[in-house]
Amino acid sequence: MRFAPLAALLPLALFTACKGDLPETERVIAPILTSEQAFDEFTYARPTEARVTHVALDLALDFDSHTVAGTATLDVQAADGVDEVVLDSNGLVISGVTDGAGQALDFTVGESDPEKGEPITVSLPARTGDELQQVVITYASEPGAEALQWLSPEQTAGGEHPFLFSQGQAILNRSWIPTQDSPGIRQTWEARITAPEPLTVVMSGISQGEPEDVGEGRRAFSFAMDNSVPPYLIAMAAGNIEHAELGPRSGVWAEPVTLAAATEELADTEAMIDAAEAIYGPYRWGRYDMIVLPPSFPYGGMENPTLTFLTPTFIAGDRSNTGLVAHELAHSWSGNLVTYASWRDGWLNEGVTSYFESRITEAVFGEKRAEQEYALSYNSLETAVAEAGADNPVTAMRTPEGTSPFDTIGEASYDKGTVFLRTVEHIVGREAFDEFMRSWFDDHAFQPATSEMFLAALREHLVHGDQELEDRLMLDDWVYGTGIPENALAPDPAAFAEVDAAAAAFVDDGTLPLATEWRGWTGAEQQRFLRELPEVMTAPQLTQLNEALGLSGNGNNEVLFLWLHAAMRNQYDPAVPQAAEFLHRVGRNKFVSPLYRAMWETGGWGRPIARRIYATSRPGYHSMTRGSVDAIVGWEEEAPNG
Ligand SMILES: [Zn+2]
Repeated sequence: MRFAPLAALLPLALFTACKGDLPETERVIAPILTSEQAFDEFTYARPTEARVTHVALDLALDFDSHTVAGTATLDVQAADGVDEVVLDSNGLVISGVTDGAGQALDFTVGESDPEKGEPITVSLPARTGDELQQVVITYASEPGAEALQWLSPEQTAGGEHPFLFSQGQAILNRSWIPTQDSPGIRQTWEARITAPEPLTVVMSGISQGEPEDVGEGRRAFSFAMDNSVPPYLIAMAAGNIEHAELGPRSGVWAEPVTLAAATEELADTEAMIDAAEAIYGPYRWGRYDMIVLPPSFPYGGMENPTLTFLTPTFIAGDRSNTGLVAHELAHSWSGNLVTYASWRDGWLNEGVTSYFESRITEAVFGEKRAEQEYALSYNSLETAVAEAGADNPVTAMRTPEGTSPFDTIGEASYDKGTVFLRTVEHIVGREAFDEFMRSWFDDHAFQPATSEMFLAALREHLVHGDQELEDRLMLDDWVYGTGIPENALAPDPAAFAEVDAAAAAFVDDGTLPLATEWRGWTGAEQQRFLRELPEVMTAPQLTQLNEALGLSGNGNNEVLFLWLHAAMRNQYDPAVPQAAEFLHRVGRNKFVSPLYRAMWETGGWGRPIARRIYATSRPGYHSMTRGSVDAIVGWEEEAPNG
């Protein structure tokens, strides 16, 4: 409520509020790395021959046909003697290609691969010297474009207007942007997007002035990103959304019905940005806005620059899940400022970010919460390594050749990465480690990077040829080896001592924590308690747990999920209606897939329930979530036309 007056002023403040604080920059063309580690096998582009440096989009959103259509004007830099440029596409319908002066250029569309899509090869016009050339592509996306999620009004929180959002990572943006879709080929971009009123378009760049009325009930919105980014970070959303300021450079977009709760939940944002800057140097993107998406967003968050995308499921009413914001904000350094050149170095984005997230959490919310989150990370790493086997190549931080960017083990990049960096920090001392990390971000700002570059920098700045230190750090074992190296810094055993004792007491003789004690626990503590409970529990035990702790009424979706998971895997009938309601309301894959799997694995009890709930909830899920659940419940075999 305390933010309601701000929201009421919005129509006037809307765009001036979000307009550029970005320092005036000249567009710098980022280098292309040519090392073996930088090679990306999931692009058709040959960037050392001809590469895209800038993308200008002029697109119309069509909510009836579920397509975007218009032009992409690419600036292309080609080496001497090279007379074609290869772009990535996935299902784009190309109607023509010209040069900047409107002269038609020859192009061919190659054979399509189910994962990579197809190459578009464009003949370049004759040129002198190494000047940039323009290639203008007129095209439309397919209705099923994988990066674009078109929501009907019923799939939004407000229920009255349609909604669109894009998700580019990993290699999905080629389904709506014809460019070189590889993280090592950084590009600046600008866009003009038209949408029907009253929808507002937002993008992962700086808004350029007020929306322009273009007739027929449509408005045009313009954006620019003058810092080069990996193309998966070009993102947009359009819907009935409003903006509220959070601080001098931060704010939040959300559907009107969600805005007040979102604003309240995100009140610590400016403090987090300040904390991050104090640790690793200036925030270099100008604005930091967030958009709280409708419930079908399949991820927790996506670090699109200047505009983090968030699931509404993080809203708990008590800010207990704002570690998610610390994570997405940290990506403004690790991932967005310095980005892996190939998908095999996922840890350079996610592991470094998870580490940085814990540092922001420590600065803003205190050491105890940071220690608890580290203990959770360490625990998930141990579990994942135990399940996969300590010598399984999928547990290496640099993933094996041929691994699909959609098919990596999260624990090997997020959790192993954070444990690795905590271990290095512990060995060399925080001050020296922070100085190294600051130099890493400064030296490689707006550039791609690889594992070997990170290790070389670490050796140059921290090891200085000291063999004894080199042996203690075990750097190569961490990055290229499997399992958990023996020097791993163990979490503080006291982090969850009280909670673990309470869980053990329940297992021993059914003693439950007092309701008052339970309510005093942090979200992380409540989750830890539920995770420590036995796999198998009886119906009376589940009833007792729920009645004593009010689990089914918990406002934190992370806690509610763990309760429903325990209930479903133990075939607990009274929780089925709530599981159905949850799976209908929530599309975040982290929750959705495990719940269907828990039901499915019970066999005769859960399979018909899972199928029944999925049949009505599937249309509201993102294509990625549908892909995971289809595989769990065998949907294609069940209903080939569904
Ligand atoms: Zn991340």
